[in-house]
Amino acid sequence: MPWEIWGHDWAVRLLQQHIRNGEVRHAYLFSGPPGVGRRTLALAFARALNCPQPVQPGEPCDECRTCRQIARMEHADLSVIQPAEGASSLKVEQVRELQRSLSLSPYEAPYRLALLLNFEQATPSAQNALLKTLEEAPPKVILLLTAPTPEDVLPTILSRCEVLRLRPMALDALADHLQRSAGVPIEQARLFAHLSGGRPGMALRLLHDEQALTERQRRIDLFFTALSGDRLTRFQISEGLAEGNDREKIRAVLQTWSSLWRDVLLICGASAGALTNLDQRERLESIAARLDLRRAYACLNAVEQAQAGLDANLNTRLLLDVLMLDLPYLNA
Ligand SMILES: [Zn+2]
Repeated sequence: MPWEIWGHDWAVRLLQQHIRNGEVRHAYLFSGPPGVGRRTLALAFARALNCPQPVQPGEPCDECRTCRQIARMEHADLSVIQPAEGASSLKVEQVRELQRSLSLSPYEAPYRLALLLNFEQATPSAQNALLKTLEEAPPKVILLLTAPTPEDVLPTILSRCEVLRLRPMALDALADHLQRSAGVPIEQARLFAHLSGGRPGMALRLLHDEQALTERQRRIDLFFTALSGDRLTRFQISEGLAEGNDREKIRAVLQTWSSLWRDVLLICGASAGALTNLDQRERLESIAARLDLRRAYACLNAVEQAQAGLDANLNTRLLLDVLMLDLPYLNA
């Protein structure tokens, strides 16, 4: 069986080569934006390393108990480390506990594997503890780390890792995969490819999460209502959004609005091929027709200011009101 990884062919080939040539390293860092396929690739590599009946070296059967347990992250020789639920960071105690379990030899598989997810959330002391693990790692131990960028990891750790920088797929290639492998109608496949920015994991999440799409639609509707509405309508919108002071909800709204303004900018600049919100093209074109590049840019800027205000813990109602005043009035 091939690895069934979407995109990242070069990375699959490299990892398979390491197995076939007996050149497996002690540590690998899978870097890239969330949803690009870091964990999926790391788990495929884990199966390739530990499958007891590979089709050929580097190609796991994907059917045996080991392969299935690794895919579910439930295998005895695979430790999965990430920030505890509700916690914002990966703590040094978690790395110490991992160290103890790695010092034992594998239960049944050739290698003892540790998958450290979102390692950018490791505290400095946790990172230092891991460095020690790396320096003293027993021969059959392999560490698999994920992080957005290599710079999120201490240089001393990085220098001991094989770094695989995963990038988003070409939008057409992802749409093609969604259509052929997941049976998604082409129109929808294109939309998901664009919305996910070429990240297959993100596209699949959208595909299986109807609620996420409904919420997105609600955020889009608010955008157009605000633009065509008068001051009163706008202040009602910002009042509604600020209610309950749910900063994550507001963050999601601003994120969608900023992607819509980016699209307007692309249309103003006549490069509509790379639109994120493909399904909104017509409505966005009618906005672009009434603004020039400079004003569209000012709107994007206003949303980004609001995002910065949110990050700086400013009063949510205030920053939304200011944003509303900055937007042009485009009533039909
Ligand atoms: Zn297997």
